[in-house]
Amino acid sequence: SDHKLDYPKTPEDMNWKKLYPGFYDEKTGKMTQNVEIADIGCGFGGLMVDLAPHFPESNILGMEIRVQVTQYVEDRITALRRKHAEDACNFQNIAVLRGNAMKFLPNFFQKAQLKKMFFCFPDPHFKQRKHKARIITNTLLSEYAYVLREGGIVYTITDVFDLHQWMAKHLEEHPLFERLDKAWEEQDECVKIMYNATEEGQKVDRNQGSKFIACFRRIPNPEL
Ligand code: SAM
Repeated sequence: SDHKLDYPKTPEDMNWKKLYPGFYDEKTGKMTQNVEIADIGCGFGGLMVDLAPHFPESNILGMEIRVQVTQYVEDRITALRRKHAEDACNFQNIAVLRGNAMKFLPNFFQKAQLKKMFFCFPDPHFKQRKHKARIITNTLLSEYAYVLREGGIVYTITDVFDLHQWMAKHLEEHPLFERLDKAWEEQDECVKIMYNATEEGQKVDRNQGSKFIACFRRIPNPEL
């Protein structure tokens, strides 16, 4: 349960320096770049590791609710930073935060702060009465739309066809998202990375399962 979790009162209260020390400017006391990409339910962090070299100008944040898994990812990132300290990609732009992504996202991120959000192999919650626990619901989509900028992208991938249809349906019905077509998916580098990078995705490969993708663009708010 998450009653022990700390949430910043506002995004300004968040201590980003601790997570991305390489992008903290001692002189100004400000971060030199911000989180623009979020991996919701990041698990063991494989997606962030593979995205890191492609987005040197963006900080990438994994949110994960399980304590031990979060600790594992933290250690993994510390080791990568040490090993690649002198390399072009030194992994200073990825970090993990323990938290419940279904709660208080607007406490962490400013309006329109994010350009990409990933939902990779979210827990399926198969039973009907558990569907409200799914990470994509109408209410949560409005929060995701708030933290995403216009033109920002929501990526979803799952091996559970029913969940794929559920996520696609909810996103399609939401007024602030539009589905991107197969041609778009085929030319997007993040789709390729997402398809192969995550630990859950690799497990699906080993079991010769299928992977279903749906991507959506955050469209402008309608004029009032
Ligand atoms: N995305 C990773 C991957 O593809 O390998 C992990 C997939 S795993 C099936 C789902 C992950 O979401 C688990 O690690 C779980 O702890 C995490 N999770 C579930 N609900 C969450 C929530 N409300 N906030 C943050 N993480 C959550």
